[in-house]
Amino acid sequence: MNLGLKIGTILNSKYMTNNDCFRAGRKISPKGIMIHSTATPGVKAAAWFNLWNKSYQAGETNRQVCVHAFVDDQEIWQYLPWDHRGWHAGGEANNSHIGIEICEPGGFRYADASGSTMVDYDVAKQEAYFRKAWQNAVDLTAWLCRKYGLSEEDVIGHVEGFKSGIASNHADPLHWFAQHKESMDSYRAAVKKALDEEQAERPLGITVGTVVAIKPGTRHYYPGGPAIPDWVIQGSYHKVTQILSRGKPVVRGGKECVLLGKKINKKTEAESAGIMTWIDKGALIIIVPTAKEIEEREPPATKAAPEGNKYYRVQVGAFTKRENAEALLKQLEAAGFAGYIRS
Ligand SMILES: [Zn+2]
Repeated sequence: MNLGLKIGTILNSKYMTNNDCFRAGRKISPKGIMIHSTATPGVKAAAWFNLWNKSYQAGETNRQVCVHAFVDDQEIWQYLPWDHRGWHAGGEANNSHIGIEICEPGGFRYADASGSTMVDYDVAKQEAYFRKAWQNAVDLTAWLCRKYGLSEEDVIGHVEGFKSGIASNHADPLHWFAQHKESMDSYRAAVKKALDEEQAERPLGITVGTVVAIKPGTRHYYPGGPAIPDWVIQGSYHKVTQILSRGKPVVRGGKECVLLGKKINKKTEAESAGIMTWIDKGALIIIVPTAKEIEEREPPATKAAPEGNKYYRVQVGAFTKRENAEALLKQLEAAGFAGYIRS
């Protein structure tokens, strides 16, 4: 829930426990993110829950489909655990890709049943909605990239998945992006920018005990230093155990370096022997060490309220110190509530 990337819009989570996809219970190790758009005018992220939280096997719906999250101009709703195998691609990509649907605005219609020819779509009028939904999707995509050690190059559109033979024949989201002079390439560029900006915001504050991840795409521990194997970047987080040598900062290749002396298991947070290598501070992203990721756990029984229930968000505190907010969040989680910290 808190991997050091901010999402300006709240990430809401509840799982589609009645959907056969959820019930199938298969897991994936996410290798990429597939972007869709809904081709359904005016149905927003929260509304998809009741539309899709149904069982095909029980005859409640005529579609076998489920996706990890819907995004609109105001909200993000996560409906499957991120490492759950989704049914969004209609092909092999279901085994490897997290699926995100961007909700299209209302006020137009489709000429065709396959949903690729927009009619009466007023680009100027829809521009504000599009920009907000686009940014929410970019932020979520960047956050997921960080979470799973992916880069913008691992992000594809459904239409690209079709072209490379791992998804069904759909035009989304390109048919909509193109209306606003955007493409999957510009989407990837926006994700890269979000990742880079996040990195630029967090160069400081790394000290002994800080848990960090190595920025995906980093090739060397420091300029002119040894190459970093992939497993070091993707396999685990690391804990900084030393920032000085003989009382002085350690500078290598012109960069101030810190020592990664412990490995941290991404799921259990267990510590083990570290790689014991000095690395450029600028190549690191701070991972908030106390925030256990709620979405990686099975939802507790108290959380899985029946379909149709309303969900209310309650703010339980405002803090100037992040540690205090985290301490309260831990108490809440221990009591069976799902929580998040918003800054
Ligand atoms: Zn699609």
